[in-house]
Amino acid sequence: MPAVRTPTYRAMVLRERGSPLAAEKRPVPEPLEHQVVLRVAACAVCRTDLHVVDGELDRGVLPIVLGHQVVGRVVSAGPDSTLQVGERVGVPWLASTCGSCEMCDAGRENLCTSARFTGCDVDGGFAELVLADSRFCLRLPDAYGDVEAAPLLCGGLIGFRALRMAGQASRLGLYGFGSAAHLIAQVARHGGAAVYAFTRAGDLAGQESARSVGATWAGDSTGPAPEPLDAAIIFAPVGELVPLALAAVRPGGTVVCAGIHMSDIPRFPYSLLWGERSIRSVANLTREDGAEFMALAEKARIDVLTEVLPLAQADRALELVRAGLARGTVVLVPD
Ligand SMILES: [Zn+2]
Ligand SMILES: [Zn+2]
Repeated sequence: MPAVRTPTYRAMVLRERGSPLAAEKRPVPEPLEHQVVLRVAACAVCRTDLHVVDGELDRGVLPIVLGHQVVGRVVSAGPDSTLQVGERVGVPWLASTCGSCEMCDAGRENLCTSARFTGCDVDGGFAELVLADSRFCLRLPDAYGDVEAAPLLCGGLIGFRALRMAGQASRLGLYGFGSAAHLIAQVARHGGAAVYAFTRAGDLAGQESARSVGATWAGDSTGPAPEPLDAAIIFAPVGELVPLALAAVRPGGTVVCAGIHMSDIPRFPYSLLWGERSIRSVANLTREDGAEFMALAEKARIDVLTEVLPLAQADRALELVRAGLARGTVVLVPD
């Protein structure tokens, strides 16, 4: 009798916090109700992937396949899937919600207490295949190739939510000029805002990169802003930036903390907050954000700078992000 070969796929798996990823062969999953199996075309790497590796989030399971900016095509669909075989979609951070809690009912599914997140609670896209809930996959604008669409799924999308939280701002500060800021600077400019980019002290390459996507001004985050800002978004996970950003915004201005994790915020004098300034965080995304942002990305035609690495080099990709050495968003493609 011939041996029956179970079809398998390759995944890069985090087995223990802080350890390198392990290449594993896994059996191809069967999609259940509402689920689809996608063949991964590209998966962008996010700072959050490092927080998962480092165990800095108070959630998540092990072992886990990282990656929550996944572009793929449907290869099989379970019962009642909203997608057809062959369709290209994106799998974002929000993997599923309960659909019935107070937050879900109020249209704030990003705050659902039973929400599960891709690459943290359920396996993500550092793999050749990914299993996803079709109802939470996002349609992607055709104008973007697979690699350039991937960074839109978190850097772009969470950045977009943060931009909305910043309110009407004609002078917008962006602290930490990595993947998300690079995309959102262009969206803000498309909306008519002037962008002020704050980088690590002396990061001249980062400042140059900010100017290349239309920043009006770029300089060190430790120095003063050249003029009072209407709002600021902090993308770097650095608590020290909060008082600096508050000092840079005008009365009534907002400082938005866009990261999922941040080092402790140091004490600061009340005078920095006085004048109806506010500080707020932005958490996760809703599917509505996804649809709105993808429609905007189609119109704004964002220039997405990427550095592509093969899936097998996922550890190197994470190190590039950690060291801040990547030129643009690091994207993994199955090799
Ligand atoms: Zn809920
Ligand atoms: Zn992310």
